[in-house]
Amino acid sequence: MPSGRSAADDGPDLTTDERSFVAIKPDGVQRGLVGEILGRFERKGFKLVGLKQLTPSRELAESHYGVHRERPFFAGLVDFITSGPVVAMVWEGDGVIASARKLIGATKPLEAEPGTIRGDLAVNIGRNVIHGSDAPETAAFEIGLWFQPSELSDWTPADQTWRTEG
Ligand code: UDP
Ligand code: MG
Repeated sequence: MPSGRSAADDGPDLTTDERSFVAIKPDGVQRGLVGEILGRFERKGFKLVGLKQLTPSRELAESHYGVHRERPFFAGLVDFITSGPVVAMVWEGDGVIASARKLIGATKPLEAEPGTIRGDLAVNIGRNVIHGSDAPETAAFEIGLWFQPSELSDWTPADQTWRTEG
């Protein structure tokens, strides 16, 4: 780190090795949006540390969306998320949890700003293309739910110093 600067200069909420769980839902896969969405996270500068396609079991889907178990949309949401392949990912980088939520946009596509994934690529809340963890605790839970540790790669992009200072 250059002299005169400290980690604190980056602000309290910036963790370089932070990880988030992101999933392209069955509608995104069916609509051929996988490359488009992966590209947005790559171009932003995040590091892909886990990637796989699977059709989730009901058990996995119900656990993933357990916080919504009592909501009226829960059964339909589980039916939808188990209806076909999901592309499950883990992305790493500075502030990736909050940043991914910004890239993704608001839950309701009508409220998602143009330029966001949902703002650009979705029209309906029940078909909003993508999931992203909303906090460090949920990110840790979701990464552990969807991935084995051996499925995650610890690696350093060759251009890492061009992504993150220090
Ligand atoms: N959802 C839905 N109807 C609703 C609210 C939510 O189908 O009225 C679905 C939608 O796919 C959403 C997911 O449930 O992405 C999880 O809801 P949450 O509020 O956690 O939104 P997110 O974190 O995905 O933005
Ligand atoms: Mg959520």
